[in-house]
Amino acid sequence: MNDIKHHISDDLLMGYAAGALPQAFDLVVATHVSLSDDARARLAGFEELGGAVLSDMDEADLAEDSLEQTLARISGETPRSTPKPPLNGIFPAPLQKIVGGDEDAVKWRSLGTGAKQAVLHDDDGVSARLLYIPAGQAMPEHGHRGMELTLVLKGAYRDENDRFARGDVEFADQDMDHTPIAEAGEDCICLVANDQRLRFKGILPRIAQPFFGI
Ligand code: ZN
Repeated sequence: MNDIKHHISDDLLMGYAAGALPQAFDLVVATHVSLSDDARARLAGFEELGGAVLSDMDEADLAEDSLEQTLARISGETPRSTPKPPLNGIFPAPLQKIVGGDEDAVKWRSLGTGAKQAVLHDDDGVSARLLYIPAGQAMPEHGHRGMELTLVLKGAYRDENDRFARGDVEFADQDMDHTPIAEAGEDCICLVANDQRLRFKGILPRIAQPFFGI
């Protein structure tokens, strides 16, 4: 899918490569990477960069390890494969795994006025959820006390900043106000991660640590 206009930041891709993101954000990044050729290419670059920096740091120790094992060791996780594009349906594989299927498998809860949501993950306020917004309607009001990452899976929405369609991601934080409205013609489904208790600005520098040794 090459018509994505709003891409994920390098910080988040690096954090994903290192396995350093909170699970809710990990899910959004994995799902976006599944839909974006650009993100897959950049992710591969960061994995190479991470391996190169580590090799410089400790050549002898790393000589017999594959890059995957090295990354797994620094992140404390098992090696991960790059998410692939969806074969069918609208949900890429990382999301289908959590939901247990595609759009029709989601256990929606009404938010009133036709909007629905399904919380997929909640770890002490760091959450990932699916939002279903009927065509032409505004999204339910939400504040940005922390960081918010919104990935469009179906339809499109517009806000004060721009238009976001399938595969696009929008980053918002406490400095940004917006009122997203689903475009007329097609209902909009988004995957949203919120980080309301952690201050993610404090986490971002830590994400770079495994790569740059800072
Ligand atoms: Zn928002």
